Amino acid sequence: MATIKPALVKEVAGAAITFWEKKLTPGMDSGDLSLRDPETGLIYILPQPSERQPIHGWNTITAADVAVIDMQGNVVGPTENLPTVEYPMHLRIYEARPDVNAIVHSHGVWSQIFAAVRQDIPCLSLDAYHFLLGEVKCAEFGRVGSETLAKNIVDALGNERRAALLAGHGAACVGPNLYEAFLAAEVLETTAKQAICAKLIGDIVPVTLGDILPEDIIKAMDPETLKQMNIKF
Ligand SMILES: [Zn+2]
Repeated sequence: MATIKPALVKEVAGAAITFWEKKLTPGMDSGDLSLRDPETGLIYILPQPSERQPIHGWNTITAADVAVIDMQGNVVGPTENLPTVEYPMHLRIYEARPDVNAIVHSHGVWSQIFAAVRQDIPCLSLDAYHFLLGEVKCAEFGRVGSETLAKNIVDALGNERRAALLAGHGAACVGPNLYEAFLAAEVLETTAKQAICAKLIGDIVPVTLGDILPEDIIKAMDPETLKQMNIKF
């Protein structure tokens, strides 16, 4: 059996506090996050509420509350720590995206406005281009915890996007580590806010790769290099 790493349990418990402090969750057990250990395939994920830990806010949990599951969804950590009900979404994203090792499922104020009207968020700035890797798609609706929701969000994320909206619900922000998943979640909030303001005064002109590099350079680059450049630019 794969080894549970205390350092990763601690990292996820710490990230739960950060999640709260960055106001990406309104309270109770709204939203969640997870971290995959690429070495063992185990997933360290926030728990669902229990009698022992009712979760009045993600700032109230500690390392003792973190759930650990395998890629089949079996609990391999403390048996009393069941994963968040949204764990199917986390599993399907990890299955589809080998580049992703961290997921922040946010319930942020500004992105929820786009999720409410079920609209994509345009790629309106260099920050959105570099940190979200393009526009943010709003996934088709799926009920909380369902495989439908999981499939729809995987489709909306595609092969390389860093965020997608859950219709009428929130967002899934991803990255190779928790730092970058949080960065995507924060840039998503800023971008959503800016998009609403921009729509009030004019038409948004999306930023594309052609705005960043001359066409002849883009044509000379292979797709893999372009992908890496997007991430590191
Ligand atoms: Zn949610």
